[in-house]
Amino acid sequence: MASKQELEEENFHRYGIRKCPICGSTHLVKEHGELYCKDCGYVIEEGYQ
Ligand SMILES: [Zn+2]
Repeated sequence: MASKQELEEENFHRYGIRKCPICGSTHLVKEHGELYCKDCGYVIEEGYQ
């Protein structure tokens, strides 16, 4: 299981995003082709393969 820091790095390299633009959380998750913030639910990017 990846550490939180590793996940942040992956998000940054893959999406160019480190934090949620709405709440500033780094708790970003990718699910069903969407990258979204698990804290506030904001969908940062849609349509990723
Ligand atoms: Zn958020």
